[in-house]
Amino acid sequence: MPFGRGFFLALAKSSYLNNHVTKWGFVRRATSKFMPGEAPEDALNASAALAKGGRGTIFTKLGEAITAPEEAKAVRDHYLWLFDEIKKRGLPGHVSVKPTQLGLDIAPDICDAYTKELAAKAQATGCFLWIDMEDSSYVDRTIALYRKIKTEFPKSGLAIQAYLYRTPKDVADLLDVNPVIRLVKGAYSEPPHLAYPKKADVDNAYYDISDTMLRAAAEGKCLPIFGTHDVALVGRIIARARALKVPAGKYEVHMLYGVKDAEQQRLRASGESVVTLVSYGTAWFKWYMRRLAERPANVGFVIRSMLG
Ligand SMILES: Cc1cc2nc3c(=O)[nH]c(=O)nc-3n(C[C@H](O)[C@H](O)[C@H](O)COP(=O)(O)OP(=O)(O)OC[C@H]3O[C@@H](n4cnc5c(N)ncnc54)[C@H](O)[C@@H]3O)c2cc1C
Repeated sequence: MPFGRGFFLALAKSSYLNNHVTKWGFVRRATSKFMPGEAPEDALNASAALAKGGRGTIFTKLGEAITAPEEAKAVRDHYLWLFDEIKKRGLPGHVSVKPTQLGLDIAPDICDAYTKELAAKAQATGCFLWIDMEDSSYVDRTIALYRKIKTEFPKSGLAIQAYLYRTPKDVADLLDVNPVIRLVKGAYSEPPHLAYPKKADVDNAYYDISDTMLRAAAEGKCLPIFGTHDVALVGRIIARARALKVPAGKYEVHMLYGVKDAEQQRLRASGESVVTLVSYGTAWFKWYMRRLAERPANVGFVIRSMLG
């Protein structure tokens, strides 16, 4: 297929496209399916609307791998402001951040300090701080970062990717910090010696890891979060939670804004805890390519937007 997963993940790495495509109006229009707008206010308004339907929000300002310490400071300052705004508006909102946005590549000490500050602010405002997981070269450092903050700030969570062979061990090891884990399938292009190349194997791994997390939840050792739009998989996981007597609220389902929205509403109406991740900001090219990679049929939105 010309527009396969690898095609879009390769495009995501192009700095030329990153610099130019974001200025093309039809591509900007196409992204509106996945983000309510570029401004924080757009995301805050979307969160207020989601809250009316009983859904929480995770806010994430798009951007990754910054190149100067001032950029990391700006990300920290933005989120410190956002936590206050979430509290002021009484929104059921949380924040998710990529460690490379806080300087992991260029100044790990600064990244540590800023992450700690954000975790403290989350705790003080009654929100969660989420740490996204980036490509496999960051996994060790990201887990180490999470371990540093989790013991001091319980309201912090970590994304973990089911496609990596190492993940069952990582999850088992993390149980000693009573983790809050968002299990996702994984969005990056990884080599076959590190991650399952076949989707069916990723799906099976996801279910097996979800089972470990739910068993730990039954013993009060983990708050499992299932970050997936795979409706059949979510159904199996909920059935497993019932069997293990883990009630809704002791696990959650998280999905992206604009993806499987009817399913998000249906799950919420059936009593599940559902949180929608809302992205905003101008640096959306790489992120958008990953969304196209997840569902090449989404390219139809781009083409329709191009045709006006
Ligand atoms: C809340 C949340 C946080 C995430 N955080 C991270 C992270 O920190 N690190 C990371 O590597 N990945 C992250 N991801 C992305 C994740 O790894 C997957 O790439 C993504 O969720 C697609 O896989 P899936 O589980 O939905 O299953 P799939 O099997 O890919 O899809 C299941 C169904 O949902 C549909 N679907 C999936 N994605 C889309 C889409 N974009 N548009 C339309 N339909 C779609 C598919 O067509 C299919 O019908 C996150 C995802 C979510 C929901």
